Amino acid sequence: MKRILLFLVVLGLFSACGQRQLVEPELPRPVPDDSISFNPPKNIILLIGDGMGIAQITAGMYSNGNQLNLERCKYIGLHIPYSSDNLVTDSAAGATAFACGIKTYNGAIGVDPSKKAVPNIVEQVSAMGMETGLVVTSTITHATPAAFYAHQPRRDMYEAIAADLAASEIDFFVGGGTTDFVGRQDGRNLIDEMRNNGFFLTDSATVSFDKVQIPFDKKFGYFSSPNAPVKASEGRDYLPLATQKAIQYLKRNGGKKGFFLMVEGSQIDWGGHANDSDYIVSEMLDFDKAVGAALDFAEEDGNTLVIITADHETGGYSILPGSEMNKIRPGFTTDSHTASLIPVFAFGPGQELFTGVYENTAIYHKMVRALSLSKKLQP
Ligand code: MG
Ligand code: ZN
Repeated sequence: MKRILLFLVVLGLFSACGQRQLVEPELPRPVPDDSISFNPPKNIILLIGDGMGIAQITAGMYSNGNQLNLERCKYIGLHIPYSSDNLVTDSAAGATAFACGIKTYNGAIGVDPSKKAVPNIVEQVSAMGMETGLVVTSTITHATPAAFYAHQPRRDMYEAIAADLAASEIDFFVGGGTTDFVGRQDGRNLIDEMRNNGFFLTDSATVSFDKVQIPFDKKFGYFSSPNAPVKASEGRDYLPLATQKAIQYLKRNGGKKGFFLMVEGSQIDWGGHANDSDYIVSEMLDFDKAVGAALDFAEEDGNTLVIITADHETGGYSILPGSEMNKIRPGFTTDSHTASLIPVFAFGPGQELFTGVYENTAIYHKMVRALSLSKKLQP
């Protein structure tokens, strides 16, 4: 109840602060969600390809026999990714839009433009008894996953973000970043603290991910690297398997209350920053395998909504004249992010909600609507 009130207060403050934004407040773009009827899904799997614009998807497709798992989705839309203080968003504001349903400033993790915490979907679905998980190829404290459990004014506050993970409702996670949990400036050992709070935690130095026995009676965390995980082209291959294992784990109790899982192909973005087309393509194809694993489950399950999108495009990447199938001649206009519209692919019950053109914040509101949470969230 407190949380709901806080949410409303925060929403009110946010609209009151509209004047301070550099970018125009978001325009009302009515999407006829209310006229769409469907059986609510029990589970949602949100897959985010960081920095994955249309050209990244196309390059992946042309480098993979002209096909991707993404194509199995027949409901496709576009989101408008700007943040509250910049037409070009960063991953922190982008992920906060998905996780919390608000536009905020670049660098913000789960807080609004006045730096107040805003409830995120993980907190909201956990309160309804749903299980939650995160699987990423960056550190688990990196901006995209962080927005799903943390509330901090700056994305580089990694130790504070790690402490927020330890205190969160997350049941299952896989990602790098042990160093934010031990050897900290405040002297806390979050690994010990989390183990004492019912977590089974292990890491890549102890056992490779494919050999881990995941205990179903504890929360589960796997550190895939002390810092940032290596590239897919250097042997990192856990993302598709971790996606499968996360699903198995999250539905282990007969899947009674359902689950929310966020999977991130974190390094498509890093290939864009490096203006390295081969890096983009290999990360894109690794991410698409995770997409395949999610869609395989959703097809069989019939009660799972899968959403695949990106926070923004990176690199102003393009496929130049002279390119051939399996041989991209790339171009880049920047080593930073760009402001282009971003595709959204949906599959499963509620998929119809995701067609059209809408703000990035609508992804959150559509997930809430799909789960029929909106009524329950009202006081
Ligand atoms: Mg990211
Ligand atoms: Zn980036």
